[in-house]
Amino acid sequence: MFRIVLIANRGEIACRIARTCRRLGVRTVAVYSDADRDALHVRTADEAVRIGPPEAGRSYLDVDVIVAAARACGADAVHPGYGFLSERAVFPRRLAEAGIGWIGPHAEAIERMGSKRDAKALARLAGVACVPGYDGEDQSDRVLAEAAARIGFPVLVKASAGGGGRGMRRVDLPEDLPAALAAARAEAQSAFGSAELLLEKLLLRPRHLEVQLAGDRHGNLVHLFERECSVQRNYQKLLEEAPAPRLGDAIRSHLHGAALRLGRAIGYDSLGTVEFILEDGMEEPWFLEMNTRLQVEHPVTECVTGLDLVEWQIRAAAGETLPLTQNDISLRGHAIEARLCAEDPARDYQPGTGTVLRFDPPHGDGVRVDTGVGTGSVVTPHYDSLLAKLVAHGATRGEALDRLARAIDGLVVLGVATNQAFLGDVLAQPAFQRGQLTTRFLAEAFAAGWREDGEGDNQGAWAEMAAVALWLADAKASAAGPGPWGTLGPFRVLAPAGRQARTCLDLVGLGGARAIEVCGDAARFEAEGRPVAADTRPSMISVTVDGVTRGFAWAKQGDDIWLQAGRRAFRARVAAAGSSMIGAAAEAGGSSVVAAMPGLVSGVEIEEGQIIEKGQVCVVMEAMKVVLRLPAPVTGRVARLLCAPGDTVTAGAVLVEIKAAQGDATQPLGTEPSMYRLR
Ligand code: ADP
Ligand code: ADP
Ligand code: MG
Repeated sequence: MFRIVLIANRGEIACRIARTCRRLGVRTVAVYSDADRDALHVRTADEAVRIGPPEAGRSYLDVDVIVAAARACGADAVHPGYGFLSERAVFPRRLAEAGIGWIGPHAEAIERMGSKRDAKALARLAGVACVPGYDGEDQSDRVLAEAAARIGFPVLVKASAGGGGRGMRRVDLPEDLPAALAAARAEAQSAFGSAELLLEKLLLRPRHLEVQLAGDRHGNLVHLFERECSVQRNYQKLLEEAPAPRLGDAIRSHLHGAALRLGRAIGYDSLGTVEFILEDGMEEPWFLEMNTRLQVEHPVTECVTGLDLVEWQIRAAAGETLPLTQNDISLRGHAIEARLCAEDPARDYQPGTGTVLRFDPPHGDGVRVDTGVGTGSVVTPHYDSLLAKLVAHGATRGEALDRLARAIDGLVVLGVATNQAFLGDVLAQPAFQRGQLTTRFLAEAFAAGWREDGEGDNQGAWAEMAAVALWLADAKASAAGPGPWGTLGPFRVLAPAGRQARTCLDLVGLGGARAIEVCGDAARFEAEGRPVAADTRPSMISVTVDGVTRGFAWAKQGDDIWLQAGRRAFRARVAAAGSSMIGAAAEAGGSSVVAAMPGLVSGVEIEEGQIIEKGQVCVVMEAMKVVLRLPAPVTGRVARLLCAPGDTVTAGAVLVEIKAAQGDATQPLGTEPSMYRLR
């Protein structure tokens, strides 16, 4: 067995591989780019090596750098995970030259299966039926056009070296083919380093079915049943399950047999997956491609077989024989996986980046979470959007489905936009529940797109009130200091005897951006005349409006307040009224005098239009027995005077807007006020 394994990957799969290594008593070395210095996978491993700047091409995809890292740390093998270098034959070859082992198949299998053209030729030799198409050597437009006519439109133009759902183009009409070929060639060359194309008949309602294979270096090869991965968007998998639902025994055993034949034909000696598509209602699955690596969705197979596939992969690479024969491998129950991605399905799947303010994985019977992030992780735009995988196992498909639905609802992830709510809505679709799946499923189920607030339960309004309560609690906390005043909220302090001061807030929530008037404190306030009660705890807040109480998990970052109930997360921004002008003023090349804390304006020493000097006192405020003299941050002209003596203002409120004089660079907002204590 290996002593030290370098994991040439990041995110959830690096963490997943480290887990098995630890159990096997193997030391792990993580690699990281500058963007991942504090990433979870770095902390999960025993040690870590920096491999370069954030760009994948100069870090995770740099063979030289990673081979050098493996050498430097004394690794006796490298696990490539998926993506990145996992399917580059040059990588294991270079490692072999350095005397370092490879946790994957022999390089020739990677090379030949990495070319979809070559793979299809091999499949045919092995008696495995392929999707009808053209995968010949002659790549001229004329030959491809003739082939397309023979295949029949629509056709799919694919990059032979493509992967990850990229490099595919649907062509419906013969006249569109030449342009599509030119574009596909250019794209394939730049993305995959080869302009080679192939054509396939485009199946209109296919299912994606795939078979997990496991082999060793002694000629043993078994299958670990199949997975259904038809729930896809843009040719990329979103939910996967094992076994495939609604599949006849004949087709099932045909699949397993075909996968084994192909694996044997190439002398397959590791973990790998043979992918097929099956047109809905047809009997014969067609070979698509083979992935010569650990697959994203391997956990569903682990659940239903009770095996650790990473362990099998490592043991095989270390020269051990497979621990079980085909007859010893059996299937228990059903498992479903959902990919949690940092992308916003309500906003055209825009990638979500930022700091994960909170990540509380769900618990429950039969629930497994493979995550690459935790509370405090930073999601950068440099890599894949996959954050974590939620996997549920049950005795039946129904039980697995219920468990996964509960797991999705039970996950708390705040600070970064994710597809969590969308995943839950997908699971709730009748067609999904029935297991009636084709790759068209998502497009058909959400024909008009997907909307966040589908249930019409007004949850967004409760979330907004929770955000206001959290803002008020913060305002009180920041006003708190020693002495009796500290225990009172600023609004009460500053109100004339007998009534509470009103304060205006800018609120950006599900209901859009607007100003609201609030009166009271965090526990009990009136918002736009409506009484609200709130109970704020360190991680939960419950809000009562009109006798109805709803609870939210919460997290705060600057003006941003994230709230979550069930699978739906809300982001609200709350700020003192007028703060939205801060940005506008700064953009206009101006600068502002801002209230440093909540309080009362006791004096205004300037007028609109007046030319003022940097440092000149503009406004005098009183708050918490402190007098604040607020100076001009820049030299310039008073563009707008936004307060008057006697006004109660909140922290961050813009009091004076100044148009800076030419040459006087805008200063950071909120320059230090001079301050002294009354008595
Ligand atoms: P799986 O087939 O295991 O479900 P995916 O197709 O979702 O995996 O891809 C897994 C990861 O590998 C993704 O990050 C994807 O972008 C990446 N990937 C897969 N194949 C390639 C390839 N040939 N080149 C670059 N990245 C790839
Ligand atoms: P990749 O290497 O990017 O994973 P695949 O050949 O495995 O490429 O195809 C990815 C997905 O695209 C499949 O899972 C399937 O949904 C869809 N697809 C591929 N080929 C066809 C086809 N001929 N007709 C319809 N859909 C296809
Ligand atoms: Mg594929």
